[in-house]
Amino acid sequence: MTVWDDVVGQDRVTVRLAAAARDADALITAEHAAAGAGSGAQPAPPADAGSTSQMTHAWLFTGPPGSGRATAARAFAAALQCVSPDRAGEYGAPGCGFCDGCHTALVGTHADVEIVRTDLLSIGVKETRDLVRRSSLSPSGGRWQVIVLEDADRLTEGAGNVLLKAVEEPAPRTVWLLCAPSVEDVLPTIRSRCRQLSLCTPPVDAVAEVLVRRDGIEPAAAARAARATQGHIGRARRLATDERARARRTAVLKLPLRVDDIGGCLKAAQELIDAAGEDAKQVAEDVDTKETEELRAALGAASGTGGRLPRGTAGAMKELQDRQKRRSTRTQRDSLDLALIDLTGFYRDVLALQMGASVALANDEVRDSVQRIATTSTPERTLRRIEAVIACREALDRNVAPLLAVEAMTAALRAG
Ligand SMILES: [Zn+2]
Repeated sequence: MTVWDDVVGQDRVTVRLAAAARDADALITAEHAAAGAGSGAQPAPPADAGSTSQMTHAWLFTGPPGSGRATAARAFAAALQCVSPDRAGEYGAPGCGFCDGCHTALVGTHADVEIVRTDLLSIGVKETRDLVRRSSLSPSGGRWQVIVLEDADRLTEGAGNVLLKAVEEPAPRTVWLLCAPSVEDVLPTIRSRCRQLSLCTPPVDAVAEVLVRRDGIEPAAAARAARATQGHIGRARRLATDERARARRTAVLKLPLRVDDIGGCLKAAQELIDAAGEDAKQVAEDVDTKETEELRAALGAASGTGGRLPRGTAGAMKELQDRQKRRSTRTQRDSLDLALIDLTGFYRDVLALQMGASVALANDEVRDSVQRIATTSTPERTLRRIEAVIACREALDRNVAPLLAVEAMTAALRAG
């Protein structure tokens, strides 16, 4: 195996990254050789010097959710840190997958690879300033200082401007790997300084294959999960391994048959909202209590719950509570969004049957329901229903109250 194994169905991108990793390695090797010669060696040229080098100091990975943007960025980070003496493996590039550099970069413990991912809706100025400060350090291992920003689309405008300065004038050994759904999600000034890589939705078969190989999932279950999630690797894995996720999906796929009167619409809407709320509650139970206890201990609160906090520490506690609240909002929104994606997939299957398209249904396990809706409605009506689900997702993006948005959707699904 190599670091590129988990970059599923993205051959064009992988070839470019491998070429960049190879040129990056050549730069480092040349620099070390010059330093070794000790003859007042010239400092090595910056990463993007020379028009022939495939290496540069800022990259933007874009692609639809589930295409593996962050995975590709991490694989590249690992290849940049590969220290295997035999660095010309697959693709003739570094990234053996086994050496200390590769391994620690992939699991997130490499001293010179900072992986930033957020469970909040936005990344602010303060956090970005810290990151920029960190990015200016020389790599401790002598290769590259790599910052992977998995949610570059969540930078606030202020944070984006802080980042811009760092991307404009990077330290010689610093590499920024930004990930976002599309180039439009990143400030134009930033993206113009990045080399852009666009990933595509990986083929269903390739996703199933990786679930079997990497996660040890049984082939039939892997194929089912890959088909149901239409090439979204992370969701496919979750569906194949998480009982709760399967139950959620089953419930959502029953919705189209339940919205035949207003009462059914309102009830279905409320249930979607409740389910999202439960997911957020689950996350809170898993994480919030521990976080709060840790902060209390760090602040020197009297032991035991309810112990008084020392004077002047209430601000820190308040800050944590705000953060937890924002995370809860984000979890609810993500959960709801997943449900809406499943619904879209259902109606897409309906449309496929209505048009007589000979494609495998994403939701083959509920073929009877798909069939029933297909024969009792028209393609035009199905298109309007798909539009209603998309409109709901957009409304949620604009911060419309979730219950209102979802009720409007279920009503539209009924009326068509
Ligand atoms: Zn390696």
